[in-house]
Amino acid sequence: MATAYITHPACSDHDMGDDHPESPQRLAAINDALIQSGVMDFLQYHTAPSATDEQLALAHTIEHINHVKSLVPERGLAALDPDTYMNSHSLSAARHAAGAAILGCDLVMAGDVTSAFCAVRPPGHHAEKPKAMGFCIFNNVAVAAHHLLKRYKLTRIAVLDFDVHHGNGTEDIFKNDTRVLLCSSFQHPLYPHTAVQKDTGNILHVPLPAGTNSADFRSAIRQHWLPALAHFQPQFILISAGFDAHKLDPLANLNLSEGDFGWITDEIKTVAARYANGRIVSTLEGGYDLHALGISVVAHLRSLASLGNAF
Ligand SMILES: [Zn+2]
Repeated sequence: MATAYITHPACSDHDMGDDHPESPQRLAAINDALIQSGVMDFLQYHTAPSATDEQLALAHTIEHINHVKSLVPERGLAALDPDTYMNSHSLSAARHAAGAAILGCDLVMAGDVTSAFCAVRPPGHHAEKPKAMGFCIFNNVAVAAHHLLKRYKLTRIAVLDFDVHHGNGTEDIFKNDTRVLLCSSFQHPLYPHTAVQKDTGNILHVPLPAGTNSADFRSAIRQHWLPALAHFQPQFILISAGFDAHKLDPLANLNLSEGDFGWITDEIKTVAARYANGRIVSTLEGGYDLHALGISVVAHLRSLASLGNAF
């Protein structure tokens, strides 16, 4: 069955300034790489709807949503935090980014597709329940997880976050909520400088030192993520798909290659096939070297859509 590719033009209109690494060119690079590789021909294209206030409020305080709405500038930029800005299109982009993840869940639950990839920005995993943070306005993957809990009455959802930065926002929203298992691998120490903890119930931290290579990354995932997932037996898997652990990325210092993103996607698919009827929705987080981002998303989607390397 097919894999959905969900995006919206508004996501390319959100622009935080010429020097900002989280740029509209990221989505253009992904689009170009998927077309050049031929992968796009095998994806089912969907336009993302706009998430409502009610949907955003599943994961955020009303105060945060209203604060974002109140700051949208008519022209120029407005700051939400030292790294996160809005132009006149940013609220629309953020609503469609969360709406993409919701649509992905609905398509997968309806059996229209097995899996979905949301090519959206702003990213989400640093946004906490009451605030925007680290390029993120609303927490797209957390809104999707809450949508699955509410609409489909699921009771075990895994959020797997392989972005090079810790998913502090997702942790903030789901700490002590045992319906959600968050597995996060991240370079440590690095932004957002989360205190690494062990044995915190539904939150699994896998800190990786600068310089971590493919073999050490794969070994850490096998040792920590896979047993936790086998124990949890998720009914649905959401992926916070950041590609900034790639060795070419300018914002971090891990030494992964695009093949590692294909590998971890294969591992996640095996878990999903065993426990979750194969159900996966992946949503874009980081990845700031445009070439590395493009080839990494191609590797991720070759795996997600079971395309192999045949073309
Ligand atoms: Zn990141």
